[in-house]
Parts: sequence; C-alpha cells; structure tokens
Amino acid sequence: MDRLAWLRWTIGALALMLGLSLALPVTATTGTPLSVCIRPVLAGQTPAALFAQPAGFDCTTAQTKFGGGDFWILSQRLPAIAAGDHDPTVRIGSTWVHRVTLYVLYADGSIRRSGFTSRTAGRLLGLGAVIVQPVPRHDVAPVRLLWHLEGAANLRGLILGPALAAHQQSDTTEILLAALYGAFGGMAIALIVYNFALWGALRQAFQPAYCLLVLCLLAYALTSSGALGQMLPMLDNNDRQRFNALFLAASAAAALLFARTFFERAVFSGWLRPASTVVMTALMTTGLAWAALAPWQFHLLDRLLAGAYLALLVLIPAVLIQAWRVRSNFLWLFALAWGVPIAVAALRVANAFDLFGWSLWLDNSTILSMALESMLSSMAIAYRIRLLSVERDTARAQEIAARLLADTEPLTGLLNRRAFLNRAIGRPGDQVLMIADVDHFKRVNDLIGHDGGDEVLRVVARALHNSVPPDSLVARIGGEEFAILFDATNAVDPAAVLERVRGQRMPFDIVVTASIGTCTGPLMHETDWKHLYHCADRALFAAKAAGRDCARAAPTARIAA
Ligand code: GH3
Ligand code: MG
Ligand code: MG
Repeated sequence: MDRLAWLRWTIGALALMLGLSLALPVTATTGTPLSVCIRPVLAGQTPAALFAQPAGFDCTTAQTKFGGGDFWILSQRLPAIAAGDHDPTVRIGSTWVHRVTLYVLYADGSIRRSGFTSRTAGRLLGLGAVIVQPVPRHDVAPVRLLWHLEGAANLRGLILGPALAAHQQSDTTEILLAALYGAFGGMAIALIVYNFALWGALRQAFQPAYCLLVLCLLAYALTSSGALGQMLPMLDNNDRQRFNALFLAASAAAALLFARTFFERAVFSGWLRPASTVVMTALMTTGLAWAALAPWQFHLLDRLLAGAYLALLVLIPAVLIQAWRVRSNFLWLFALAWGVPIAVAALRVANAFDLFGWSLWLDNSTILSMALESMLSSMAIAYRIRLLSVERDTARAQEIAARLLADTEPLTGLLNRRAFLNRAIGRPGDQVLMIADVDHFKRVNDLIGHDGGDEVLRVVARALHNSVPPDSLVARIGGEEFAILFDATNAVDPAAVLERVRGQRMPFDIVVTASIGTCTGPLMHETDWKHLYHCADRALFAAKAAGRDCARAAPTARIAA
C-alpha cells in the first residue's frame, strides 16, 4: 500500500475516533454539574447545623489545597430539575476515601442520608469509575447536599465532578460507556490474538511487546471502567485504584518497550537505550510502590509516579528526534498513532502536579486515546509487516537469481555440467542422452576468430535448446560439446536436430555442422550416468568416424554396460 493510501486510512480512523471521543465528554457531564464548598471536620458539628450555616464553608480555595483528611462538602442549592424527578442520582468521580456519607436536605427541612465505604463502593460504581448514589426518596424535593468524607486522600480533589442526574440519564450514560468499554475490550482482545498469531509466523520482537501493552491496557480498562467493581463487589474500591494505578504504569512502560522494539535498531542504539530502561524501571517501581504502600506517604508516592510519567514524556521527543535523524520508516506513523495518547498523558501529568483541573473526561480519556492508538498502531504494524514482506520477496528473488546464475553456464545460458547432473540423475524411466559436438570447431575458430567461435557456440546452443521438448535438459558440458537429456517416451529425431543446427545463420555466413551420439537407458544413479555417457560418447565417436554431420545411436546403456 502506498503512503497516500495509508494516509487516507489514518484520516478515516482519526475521524471515527474523534467522533467517539466527542461522545465521551457529552456523556461524562451527565446531569447538572454542581458547585461545592468545603470545610474541614471539627468536633461537635452536625449536618443540620452545617446546612443552616453555608457561610462557614470555603467556596474559593481549590480542593487539592486542603490536603488529605476528613471534610464536609456542601453543594449549592439544587437546581429545579430535581423537583420534577422522583429518582434523581448524585454522581461523583471515584476517589481514594475511606467513608462517604451523603446528607440530603429536603424542602420540608428534613434530612436523610445514605453512604458507602471503600468496601461497599463497588455496588455504586458505574462505568467510567463514577459513583452513582440514588437520592433517598421523599415526598418533597431535595434542596441541598452535604457530603461527609472520612479518610480522603485528596490526590486530585475531594469530590470530583459532582452532578445531579435523573436516574434515566445515568442509565443512558452507563449504556454508552458500556458500549465504549465493550468496543475497546473487544478490539484489545482481537489485537492480542492477531498479533500473537502473527508473532508465530514473523517472530518480530515488537509483537509480544505490543501484546503485553494491549494486555496491560485491557487490565487498566477493566480496573478503571468500574466493571471490575461490579464483577467483584467485595473488592475494596481503594484496592481497585491500586490495581488501576499499577496497570496504567505498566501500560506506559510496555508502550516504551514496544517503541524500543518497533523502531529500527539505530533509533535506540545510543544513550536512548539505557535512558529508556531507566524510565521503564522508574514507571514500574513507582507504580508498584504506589499500589503496595498507599496511603502511606501518599502525596510523595503520587508525585514520584507522576515524575516517572514526566520522564517518559521528556524521553518521547528525544526518541522522535532520533528516529527523524536516522530516517526511520515508522516515524510519521508512530507520531500519528501516539500523538493523542501522549497529549492525554501530558494533561494527566499536569493534573497530578495541580496544573490542570480534574475532569471525568480526562480520567477516562486514556481508554479513548489508546483505542485510537491501537487502531493506528495496528496499521503501523501492518505497514511494518508489509516492509518485511517486501524485504523477504526481494531476498527470495535475489536468491532465485543467484541460484540461476550458479546453475547456468555464462557463454550460452544453458545449464552447466553440475546443474545438469543434479537434475538429470534420478529422473524416472528410460532417458535418452544425446551428445552433440560441433564439427571441426578448431577450424571455425581459426577462420573467424575466437569471438566468432563464441558466437557460433551461442547460436548452436539456442538451436539445440529450441529443437527439444520443454522438459528436456540441455547443457554445455565441454568446449563445443553439449548434452541433451529427455524421456525415452518423448522421442526426438537427431536428424531434425542436426538439420536445425545446419540451418542456422552463422557469423560470416559460414556453415557449421555437428555430430550426435545418442544412447538410451535408466538414469537413477551416478553409475547409470557413467554408463550412459560412455555409451553416447562411443556413438558420437562413431558419428565422427562416419564423416560428421550425422547421428549415431548406441545400443542401450544396459546392454552396453
Ligand atoms: P571434431 O570435429 O573432431 O570435434 O573437431 P574439433 O576441432 O571440433 O575438435 P577439438 O576437440 O579438437 O577442438 C575443440 C576446439 O574448441 C578447441 C578449442 O580451442 C575450442 N574451444 C573450446 N572451448 C571454446 C570456447 O569457449 N570458445 C571458442 N571460441 N572455442 C573453444
Ligand atoms: Mg568438435
Ligand atoms: Mg569436442
């Protein structure tokens, strides 16, 4: 496929993925976003008192500035949508927290509550790792929400993307996200199977690396989609986040490993090789430390992990520059495939360093960008395999040409003695060996010179070649001596062969004739060849003795021997 065709495919895939990625932010902001205010927990506070004093809450400081701990979070007054809906839900992004209690204040002044702990969050966890809590039913409309957080890590915020949504809206989002994650999962499995199968045939190092990458992503998608929470409701939601962080770090390390094996050797030949090993190790160790040790030294571990991602992001331009320097075939495709995931990773790193706010879209964007990457990488791999097959075809063609060259005799282009014997010995059934020798060739040389003699040999060779059946073997076995072999059942009249030689137009219009000796017999073994050759040679001698320009047949080789 030419580059233009690749480009068309790529643009098509990009457009498709862009459509999908536009769908996600729409679904991610399901319902009406709520603004919230915060105050740390002090002894003696009650929900009723807190609902009554919204002024005591901090509505301006960024959530991440509060650090970890226990907090009260008060929502704005709820919009009217909640009044008409009998089954509203409260949606928040899943975070690392020990216990969350949601207090709902109703229009009649009553307060109801519902809550979850990290252990029971699984049953509330929707796809996209959103916690969907139904607002407790009451005759009158809810007017305000108050969350009580205990043991919040506050890595990305305390209450992420809070929104009030109708039950049905939440369901629709679940279905859309299920389609997204399902499509991603199906594609990932297909990619693993097909790359693994291809690896069996092609044995390219980038193939298992790619399978590993997609496997890590699949595990990441499973742990971040909330599907795992629903499959294993007993799984602690904080433990789910440990796996999630670990698989994301493993995916990033596997992506680097894939790049290292995918590009030509020259790209990672210098300092980039040890540097990439360091980055992969950093990703894995910080990912493992985060997963194993959290919430101990949580902010430090999180910054370390983010630092490893940052190192990866710094390494990427160096890889691309090096690939450009060594004129890598795969640079443009690689850059295209990884552009979006890299941009998304950069945003997430910025988010980890508090440079960029949290959004549900950002939280789930890795899946989308990796789906895009997977599609483009498949094309990159197909392109890579295309180059491999071109390489192989060229090598095979060269090998065939080399073998042909080794088998042929350079002056006439006929088979040489060795190739002739290789193919002749073992032919089943009786074979006729015909030895043709140019008459008085010494004189021909004397008359028209050595170059003229060479030309005569070429003309004779062509005449012999054209006067025998296609499956015959024709070889030049001596100076002006030729051997022709064909099946005994496929009779060739030696007189016709001689006539054809005689009828050729020769240099300086000289007349050239030849003599032929034939012999028939089996040719299964080396010894058969000796008998057959001596027998035909004797017949040739008889033809020469008989005055040349004639053919003589010996009795069969079996009898002669
Ligand atoms: P006869 O009819 O008995 O076969 O006589 P002849 O002269 O053909 O036989 P002889 O074997 O005495 O001579 C063969 C000559 O063929 C000798 C050699 O110089 C010439 N010759 C051998 N190889 C080549 C070649 O590649 N090119 C040319 N131009 N001459 C060759
Ligand atoms: Mg001769
Ligand atoms: Mg001779």
